[in-house]
Amino acid sequence: MTDLTARLSRVFGFSSFRPGQQEIVQSVLDGQNTLAIMPTGGGKSLCFQLPALCREGTTVVISPLIALMRDQVRGLQELGVPAGALTSGNTDEETEDVFRAVDDGTLKLLYMAPERLAASGTLSLLRRANCTLIAVDEAHCVSQWGHDFRPDYLRIGDLRRMLDVPLAAFTATADAETRDEIVSRLFDGMAPATFLRGFDRPNIRLAFRVKDSPRRQISEFAAARRGQSGIVYCATRARTETLAQALSAEGHNSRAYHGGMDSIERRVVEQAFQVEDGLIVVATVAFGMGIDKPDIRWVAHADLPKSIEGYYQEIGRAGRDGAPADTLTLYGPDDIRLRRSQVDEGLAPPERKSADHARLNSLLGLAEATSCRRQVLLSYFGEESQPCGNCDLCTLPAKIFNATQPVRKALSAILRTGEYFGTGHLIDILTGNATAKVRERGHDQLPTFAVGRDMGKAAWQAVFRQMMGRDLVRPDPERFGALRMTDAARPILRGEAEIMLREDTIKSARDRPTVKA
Ligand code: ADP
Ligand code: ZN
Repeated sequence: MTDLTARLSRVFGFSSFRPGQQEIVQSVLDGQNTLAIMPTGGGKSLCFQLPALCREGTTVVISPLIALMRDQVRGLQELGVPAGALTSGNTDEETEDVFRAVDDGTLKLLYMAPERLAASGTLSLLRRANCTLIAVDEAHCVSQWGHDFRPDYLRIGDLRRMLDVPLAAFTATADAETRDEIVSRLFDGMAPATFLRGFDRPNIRLAFRVKDSPRRQISEFAAARRGQSGIVYCATRARTETLAQALSAEGHNSRAYHGGMDSIERRVVEQAFQVEDGLIVVATVAFGMGIDKPDIRWVAHADLPKSIEGYYQEIGRAGRDGAPADTLTLYGPDDIRLRRSQVDEGLAPPERKSADHARLNSLLGLAEATSCRRQVLLSYFGEESQPCGNCDLCTLPAKIFNATQPVRKALSAILRTGEYFGTGHLIDILTGNATAKVRERGHDQLPTFAVGRDMGKAAWQAVFRQMMGRDLVRPDPERFGALRMTDAARPILRGEAEIMLREDTIKSARDRPTVKA
């Protein structure tokens, strides 16, 4: 982990950068004049907040919206970052606090409305604050032709000249004219380092499959791409080794890679991957940073990634040359349990844990999506798009069905057994399978016993997995395997909401030759 990602996680609680962020952060950190164009919701604020923390002195942030500024300052303060704002919405006390922090030299970020630049004393205040960087949010407000024109933004260029510090400008509006205007007005026409990137990587095909027999699924995927370079990501080190062996046994050229290997062994694999054609590296997420191979043709995930950001980064290693590349991500109930428990067992404070659960929900939403996956993925990063035609759901639309009744039956089985049991036992109850455990506990006497006889075991497993994916039920962190209902499920239980689920497209494991991973 680099210092930067360590700080990203320690201060902001994010496990990885979003697409594009790292390069921008680095540019700003290096003191270059920088212009970044990113979709709304793409995570622009972090691109000046993180460098501000790493740099000496204070970063002044010019932003046109008072409410937004106040939100950001509050958010930063909650994270323990010394930040303040000077806006017309301030109380005298707030303003006093800011001046005091400036004089103490403790302030890292000072937010300011553009109008403030007109006030006498602002320049000397910024000098006193040891301002070493200017960040301009919504930089398109400097454009006279745009509908968001703010005359006071025209003062920013002077400010930069007088303070003689680097400037970083951010906007979501990317048209070429606006860009030119930003460059001429904010940077005096000197071309800044410019980052313009939507998040879409249209040459990368997206696909998810329910995990059935991962070893067979991955080996079939690899066999269909024999001779091409690929990466298989696994959640554990042990899994990388067994899977690499299995692939080698099937005649693939494949190597394991993980952080537990010594650095020489790792270098050997990295080198081999760079120069050999058709090598498959089976790795943990330790593999990838610094791998700069343009013709990686495929990336598979044998286990669900940790987050949507991680997923995007990992699949994004494929097809850098722009030629078609393929991906496959496997996921199942055990993955959901693993990722939930990693959040629950982490040391983060409760608010951060709930944010991490919400982020995991977004990834699961992508896994269980019912329409174009790229649309779901890009919308998470704030980008609107049309159905892509290059994902499994565009090729073969999911069949969805009204699952309100089955979900209510399942919830009722969970509640009537005290939220104490796991999927296997609950499915025995629902399908009327009077096992010894069911009889011992008297669960064959419950009104829910056998109410789900009309559906097979595999169909029930699919319902339970999707209920976990939709966060209607969560594994109980205290009791291994037991499922508890969440508040999100209440409207369905009370009959106030309906729910549509996917019909599973996998065949049950019994229909397949049994190869266990
Ligand atoms: P923008 O200003 O580009 O519209 P924001 O800076 O408000 O976007 O960020 C949008 C959301 O993305 C925020 O909720 C923020 O917490 C989140 N975010 C930013 N960077 C990351 C990251 N590296 N990992 C996870 N979430 C992030
Ligand atoms: Zn699609």
